[in-house]
Amino acid sequence: MKYIGAHVSAAGGVENAPVRAEEIGATAFALFTKNQRQWKAKPLTEENITKFKQRVDERGFSMDAIMPHDSYLINLGHPEKEKLQKSRDAFLIELQRCEQLGIKLINFHPGSHLNKISEKECLARNAESINIALDQTEFVKAVIENTAGQGTNLGFRFEHLAEMIEQVDQKDRVGVCIDTAHAFAGGYDISTEEGFTETFRQFDEIVGFDKLLGMHLNDSKKEVGTRVDRHDSLGDGFIGWTPFEMIMKDERFDDIPLILETPNTDRWPEEIAKLKKLAGES
Ligand SMILES: [Zn+2]
Ligand SMILES: [Zn+2]
Repeated sequence: MKYIGAHVSAAGGVENAPVRAEEIGATAFALFTKNQRQWKAKPLTEENITKFKQRVDERGFSMDAIMPHDSYLINLGHPEKEKLQKSRDAFLIELQRCEQLGIKLINFHPGSHLNKISEKECLARNAESINIALDQTEFVKAVIENTAGQGTNLGFRFEHLAEMIEQVDQKDRVGVCIDTAHAFAGGYDISTEEGFTETFRQFDEIVGFDKLLGMHLNDSKKEVGTRVDRHDSLGDGFIGWTPFEMIMKDERFDDIPLILETPNTDRWPEEIAKLKKLAGES
């Protein structure tokens, strides 16, 4: 089936996320398990954990449909030793929090080389950071997101994703999340049927659909190849509805979280309902 949802707020505690997801008619959701703009976080309490699991269960969410996003501060490919370590420490905490909550996926962006090291070296550091975190955890999978390629941010080419995966030791615990707005801004024109088909043919060849563990469904306020990351509501931007219709009808996108990060949260119920209808699941 198609798991469709949005990145909901976890304000007041992670246990509020499944409640908010249900309110908008979602069958999947993303959340931050800690404040995404701070390094520090209070540990999850027993109450947070128990209530989260209980509410997920009561509302019938599959644990396969929940994919938290890590903090924006983390740069797993940081060129400087101390800052890299700080990111790695924070990333490990992200994975540990997921495991405490019984969550199987953690989504994050590859880091930036900041023009201080080569792309290759930065991708290798990212992979090493993933290896370190996976070695210290049990089951959560590292889900690398493609990026729009803003600044010196890597991950905007499918080849970058493949190169990192290649260097991860626990292959069964690494995969990718494709953000449609990032792919488009990064240079993949998915706005037409032909463009979408060709993009995912390349994706399958370079990364492989077996590695696709989630999607972010966003339209883009910026044109193709601009390398600028600005999400738009579905149908409002330069991408349009075509690829979203195609995703909903394509079984290669079944059974993974399909998450909206569109800017107008008031429109989520409508966007989710439309996607469900396209998937024949309303
Ligand atoms: Zn992201
Ligand atoms: Zn984005």
